[in-house]
Amino acid sequence: MKSKNYILIFGIISIVILISVQIFIIKSIWIEKEIMFDMKYKSLSREAVDQLRSIKKTDGFDTAFFIMDKYAEGVMTNDISKIKSEAELKVKKEEVFGDITKIMNQEQDLSIYLSAYFKKFRVDNNFSFQIVINSLYLVDFDKKFEIYLNEDLFNISKHDPPVEGSQAPPKPPDMNDQKVTSRILVQRFTREDNYFNISFDYFIDFTNKRNMVLRDMAASLGMSIFSIIVVLIIFMITYHNLMEEKRLSNLKTDFINNMTHELKTPLSTITVAGKTLEMAQIRADDSKILETARMIGKQSVHLNQLINLILEISMWERTQFQLDKKNIDIGELLNDIVESFRTGCGNCAKITQKYELDGIKADIDMVYFTTMINNLLTNAVKYSDKDPEISIEGLKDRDKIYIKVSDNGIGIDRAEQKHVFDKFYRVSSGNIHKTKGLGLGLYYVKRIAESHGGDVTVTSKPGKGSIFTVILPY
Ligand code: ADP
Repeated sequence: MKSKNYILIFGIISIVILISVQIFIIKSIWIEKEIMFDMKYKSLSREAVDQLRSIKKTDGFDTAFFIMDKYAEGVMTNDISKIKSEAELKVKKEEVFGDITKIMNQEQDLSIYLSAYFKKFRVDNNFSFQIVINSLYLVDFDKKFEIYLNEDLFNISKHDPPVEGSQAPPKPPDMNDQKVTSRILVQRFTREDNYFNISFDYFIDFTNKRNMVLRDMAASLGMSIFSIIVVLIIFMITYHNLMEEKRLSNLKTDFINNMTHELKTPLSTITVAGKTLEMAQIRADDSKILETARMIGKQSVHLNQLINLILEISMWERTQFQLDKKNIDIGELLNDIVESFRTGCGNCAKITQKYELDGIKADIDMVYFTTMINNLLTNAVKYSDKDPEISIEGLKDRDKIYIKVSDNGIGIDRAEQKHVFDKFYRVSSGNIHKTKGLGLGLYYVKRIAESHGGDVTVTSKPGKGSIFTVILPY
């Protein structure tokens, strides 16, 4: 029991380690693939921007800058002069920042160009873009006046404008924003015009990047999952086999103990009987000699039967069943078996019979068939804690015969039911120690039923009784 637990714990720990290692490897591959993905699109998009600049002499924002300049001129020459308070200025700044952001997004051509470029290279062009303004200020060089629109955002003082050419510090990335981590920076742009000065970043973001990376690593992911499943299956099979071996070895030990006990009883009776016959007063009484001789005879027969059963079963292991089949009326045969069982056990049980077999004949080996039914009847009597009541029913359908042996005995627990047909198996609770047996009777029944092309099943309720059904083809 202890070693069983150690094996299980050791196995589970090894599997957990294996799965953790696999997860670590997959994670590393995932990160690497993501980096490669980003690098691929970064270099492609930069190529696209360079090409756009060299061929079309633009970086895709000319229209946007033109409109922005006009807009900024309007603001600087008309709107600003009308502003009277800091509060009004703040509202105006927000409005202008919003308008400019809108112009930048709507009037740029870079995205269309990138999409066409990606398509040309047969890579995914299903991306969204994002423009993040780093610094933006409107200027009026004539009036030497300038306002920083996003000063609060970047904490750039109104009185401390950035020196020309320098760039404002980039916006710190918000780690909670998924987009920040998945987007790819194409390029940082700066532009100074008559009425504005801007620095901004252009990002692209692939909506199905996760799927694309996943597709890219499908092979390694598949291999990893496959190897985990294989290891799990191997572990389960090994563990199951080990437990089965252990169970069989326990069964064998029990069997040897039971067999020793079974053989010892008739042997010791014979020994005692032998000693009795040596006594002078017994030898003087003919009837006592006869009684002792009969006892020796009876025990020898029992001993012989036991040894034959063991020899027969060990022979089954090596050779196939040799059936001597004859076409026999099953109803009639059942009736004969039951009657001889009744007299043989000295009316030990109340047995009722009901056959709806219409004189059906089936090809069976009479000797094995009789042993099979006898075993079921013997068990029905053996495993009973009250006056045994047994019912034998014979039913048929289109091509099968059903022989049901029901009793009012101690019944069999649900968990035990699937084992009772195993070789050497005996239920390990209840009155097992009171009843003698080798755990071979039902194994014998099953083997005989199967060798006739049939089967045997059990339904049972502890305390209520059991029903064994032998199914045979006809
Ligand atoms: P044995 O009777 O020699 O122990 P069997 O193979 O005939 O071996 O039966 C296996 C086990 O199934 C028995 O130990 C017993 O616990 C259980 N069993 C068999 N028949 C019955 C029955 N009719 N009612 C209750 N338990 C039964």
